[in-house]
Amino acid sequence: MRIERIALSGFRNYDEETVQFGPDVNVICGPNAQGKTNLLEAVYLLTGAHSFRTRFDKELIGFDCGWASVLADIDSDGRTQTVRLLFQRGQRRQVTVNGVKKTSSSLAGLMTAVLFSPDDLYLIKEGAAARRRLMDNAISQLRPGYAALLSDYNKLYENKTRILKDRYDKPSLLTALDEFSDGLARCSARMIRYRASFVERLAGAAAPIHWDFSGGREELGLVYKTVSTVTDPRAPVEDIYAQIMDHQRAHRQAELDAGACLTGIHKDDIEISVNGASARSYASQGQARTAALSIKLAEREIFKAETGQYPVLLLDDVLSELDMTRQEFVLNRIGGGQTLITCCEDEDISRRTGGRVFSVREGHIR
Ligand code: ATP
Ligand code: MG
Repeated sequence: MRIERIALSGFRNYDEETVQFGPDVNVICGPNAQGKTNLLEAVYLLTGAHSFRTRFDKELIGFDCGWASVLADIDSDGRTQTVRLLFQRGQRRQVTVNGVKKTSSSLAGLMTAVLFSPDDLYLIKEGAAARRRLMDNAISQLRPGYAALLSDYNKLYENKTRILKDRYDKPSLLTALDEFSDGLARCSARMIRYRASFVERLAGAAAPIHWDFSGGREELGLVYKTVSTVTDPRAPVEDIYAQIMDHQRAHRQAELDAGACLTGIHKDDIEISVNGASARSYASQGQARTAALSIKLAEREIFKAETGQYPVLLLDDVLSELDMTRQEFVLNRIGGGQTLITCCEDEDISRRTGGRVFSVREGHIR
């Protein structure tokens, strides 16, 4: 899997710019605020996922532009596919593959990418939202069905939250509450199975990487956590649905009192441990960084196992935040696929990776 060429029009701070990437390591360098992360964001969007920086497509459109587009040639399994994304204010994004209209979620599998950004260094210590994002971004790329479920779930969640919030002003809304709760439970039941199986694979792939990384001293554990009444997240969907409905009924009054959804997969988490102790509570900074890196590298291995090709690896500004040993560990493990690395100064990284260097200045790439 690799991206051969990308052309940006009106995208963030890019007016009109085209880049031809090399098949191995590509170093994207330049001072702050020039467009390095914007370029990685454009590449990441080709996976069909949301941006890793915003939920709102309108933010991707250049300040002075009416629309933005990202056009790319992707080599997938030796075949070149041309993907075009069009973002227009107030409209849904339009996706075409080789000129044929598609849905965003159907890009899953066509182009896969694993992103490692400075935020991921906090994957272990921060709240559960970062770990849910990890699951959602990865599974959405591998399973079009999951991406569609996630989008349905978010819509149902927003509607139910509005009912719970506005019910004093508009009591008639309450008649629809149970219908939305049921819809959320059905979506949750199916998503729980996807998430449970992904975390199980991630745990299996991350543990040996972390073990190597820590010089054979640390065992990394990952366990999926979901709605408390669900006894087995790999059970048949109908069983999980029934258990979520039990939770739902038990918390109906509490939801009305709180004016918020209390049952569903929007509170899921991955419990991460190092040598049996909760990483969130006890891991040192260094252990947390090592664990975060191991998890990201594991994600890359899962994509490879699943699609037969390494995903495009996007490393945004992370090397400068890692010490030399960790930098070397990452650089030694990124072979085999295409990598785009951003950094502020080029010489050292390009020398160490032997990569092709692109210089970014005010939305222009050389
Ligand atoms: P750093 O090294 O600080 O991370 P960077 O090169 O990664 O910098 P980017 O995040 O790519 O910088 O942002 C480059 C510039 O793009 C910023 O100045 C930002 O304000 C600008 N920018 C972001 N969104 C838009 C937009 N929709 N329209 C125009 N400019 C934008
Ligand atoms: Mg940046």
